[in-house]
Amino acid sequence: MPRPIAARIHPRALRDNLTALRHAAADARVWAVVKANGYGHGIENVFDGLRGADGFALLDLSEAERVRALGWRGPVLLLEGVFEARDLELCSRLNLWHTVHSESQIDMLALHKTHQPHRVFLKLNSGMNRLGFSPQAYRSAWTRLSALSQVDEITLMTHFADADGPSGVTDQWAVFQSVTRDLPGERSVCNSAATLRHSGIPGLLGDWVRPGIAVYGSSPDFPEHDIAHWNLAPAMTLTARVIAVQSISPGESVGYGRTYVADRPMRIGVVACGYADGYPRIAPTGTPVLVDGRRTRTIGRVSMDMLTVDLTDCPDSGFDSEVTLWGKAGNGAVLAVDEVARLAGTVGYELLCALAPRVPVEVDSETDAHGC
Ligand SMILES: *Cc1c(COP(=O)(O)O)cnc(C)c1O
Repeated sequence: MPRPIAARIHPRALRDNLTALRHAAADARVWAVVKANGYGHGIENVFDGLRGADGFALLDLSEAERVRALGWRGPVLLLEGVFEARDLELCSRLNLWHTVHSESQIDMLALHKTHQPHRVFLKLNSGMNRLGFSPQAYRSAWTRLSALSQVDEITLMTHFADADGPSGVTDQWAVFQSVTRDLPGERSVCNSAATLRHSGIPGLLGDWVRPGIAVYGSSPDFPEHDIAHWNLAPAMTLTARVIAVQSISPGESVGYGRTYVADRPMRIGVVACGYADGYPRIAPTGTPVLVDGRRTRTIGRVSMDMLTVDLTDCPDSGFDSEVTLWGKAGNGAVLAVDEVARLAGTVGYELLCALAPRVPVEVDSETDAHGC
């Protein structure tokens, strides 16, 4: 028997999350962001659930090729654009739209030979100071691009630094508006957090929104709002089984470093999931888990291949019990990845993306009763 651990992907949840985002996005078209191998879910595994999107946005050219290989003929956007001149040949061949954030990318385009002009997203650095033209350079970049025969439509784009946080989008939105005021073309500025939190700002949703994390059922602004608040459901469930049970007495310790010492008689379940599976080693004693769909907590240190959970108050659980590290248990109980991430000092994004290659991934069949 294989080691009892697996990740399950829920196409129904992906579809429902996309619907929730469509509602939030009003008339805007929706890119499903599938970078980082679909936020760790696997592009091939999420494709069916997300084929209702208006396009797929990602970074790696190899991922763009995979989306085309799945038969997707609609828009595909490279969020960081091309990295070298020959990438443009792939853009021409596969009809990829691409972000332009630097002069060198315009230089490459100017030298590119193509029969089909490219659709580009011109990125403004409105204050995040990662990618994009400065407000001073943006308009001349637009003028230069629009004079190129290699370029078809230019969409105006920026990215927010704190759409999920207290400073919000106001300052950057003001910069974007003043720089782009009289430029023609479509607009795209919203990630998940901006789409869900700031859709009331007139014009902000623009023509295209670019949600990623929310599509996968993780809240962009946890703990301020959880997935239930945003009407989202986990698209990934990480489950393992209890492979041993220990009954310990007060004063006995559990795991490496003896970091947890029992102060009463306890039952400890040993679970076939460790940091080599992508579960964060730094998650402290007390991190929530579901055992047979019932909420309990981790105990002691996470090791490479195992972690330990408190079964003292779960008398009906034991050897072979189902343990849900995050996602949805067989009985329907939900443990958001955001809760685990929070205790590990990170965000749901990182845990989902860090699912280890050794964990087998299964995709729910559409007829599966608890398939969402
Ligand atoms: C990753 C990314 C997104 C999606 O962000 P989420 O916070 O996951 O919604 C949107 N736009 C750009 C440019 C990105 O790189």
